[in-house]
Amino acid sequence: MANLIVGLLCLYLLCFGVMFWLISWRLEGNRLGMDVFALGNAMLGLAYVLQLLEGLPGWSAASVLNHTLTLCTPVVYAVGGLRFFGRPTPLLRPVLALALAYSVAQLLVHALLGPAARHAMLALLSALLMAAMVAGVLYAMRGVARDLRLEMALFAVLIAGLGVLNAAKFQRLLQLGLAALEPGQRFQTVFYLYMSFLATVLAPTMVWLVLHRLTDALRAAAAHDPLTQLLNRRGLLAALEQHFGQRTAAPACVLLLDIDHFKRVNDTHGHRVGDEVLCQVARTLRSTVRGGDLVSRTGGEEFVIVGLHGEAGALALAERLRLAIERQEVPIAGAGAPLRCTVTIGLSQPFQHLAGFDAALQIADAALYRGKADGRNRVVAGSPAPADAEATEARVADIDPALRTA
Ligand code: GH3
Ligand code: MG
Ligand code: MG
Repeated sequence: MANLIVGLLCLYLLCFGVMFWLISWRLEGNRLGMDVFALGNAMLGLAYVLQLLEGLPGWSAASVLNHTLTLCTPVVYAVGGLRFFGRPTPLLRPVLALALAYSVAQLLVHALLGPAARHAMLALLSALLMAAMVAGVLYAMRGVARDLRLEMALFAVLIAGLGVLNAAKFQRLLQLGLAALEPGQRFQTVFYLYMSFLATVLAPTMVWLVLHRLTDALRAAAAHDPLTQLLNRRGLLAALEQHFGQRTAAPACVLLLDIDHFKRVNDTHGHRVGDEVLCQVARTLRSTVRGGDLVSRTGGEEFVIVGLHGEAGALALAERLRLAIERQEVPIAGAGAPLRCTVTIGLSQPFQHLAGFDAALQIADAALYRGKADGRNRVVAGSPAPADAEATEARVADIDPALRTA
């Protein structure tokens, strides 16, 4: 029975190992640790193959390799986990060093204390490794894995279960010696059933985690401008929708900001310096707005800032942004003096609903145009477009003719 479970477990580990490897191959740039998890599965699968071939527990090269693989695999999975959460962690050298050290340790323990002690050492160190991994997972839940708390809690419980089983195995080895490992023993069946359960639950959870991260990354990419990392138009509209979805949402104001004579920057210093200026302007905007205000890049050298703190303060914010950019310096490699630039800002009337955004943008655009015509480097507050005012009047008159004479 135990051998059948081990055989199936082995097949399962190897199949999911191949799947992890295929996923990592598709991911290319950031593999999310999936290549390392594939290696972990291959190592554990190989360890179980060796166990099947080995027969009764005893001293052999296959058994030593089996134990070394079994001990190194949790370390490999831990490295995969760290890489999944964006921590670049070395793999090959530390794992090879551990494998070498553990093989030597097995030789010594076997020679000095006998074969049961070698098995007990593996069970004890595995239990300690599981405890360390549970501590690591719990720590990650409060930091890098905050958005995956439920999944991490599941991992912690499952790993803790394996730790407890290894501790129990250690105790049984101390009591019964090698007899504790005979395939007929109920404990052995329970142990391998739990391992199979673990492999069955953990592998799809890993795939789910990858899917979670990838869909998050896709959503973020669709909502942001790749050059400046500011929101793009789609991201801005989504954020505005969320703002107006709140019952106590304050009115919003659009600030349309355009860099003055930006074409000259490109023509004089090249496109790359132009890009650097755009990034610096983005940084200045981000650090100057108030918490909660939305900053986006909606076109080439055009930025839309939406103030979400009501009508008051929007003009002051626009003036603060204009001044901050006027004062900013962009260092240029090879050139003596840093580059400076100015912006013109058009300001809209406040609006209360998402549907008012386009009209507000038009008002801010008209104000911006006036600012450019008046000499640039200034803030111009817009008023409702006359055409709009007329249209509104006409609509009101259609609905209620009494209003026309009022
Ligand atoms: P004005 O003061 O009237 O706004 O003049 P301007 O030169 O800034 O305006 P214009 O619209 O003539 O030029 C905008 C330039 O922005 C043209 C285009 O080459 C440049 N541009 C647009 N997108 C990018 C970009 O992503 N990177 C760089 N480096 N330049 C860009
Ligand atoms: Mg411009
Ligand atoms: Mg422009």
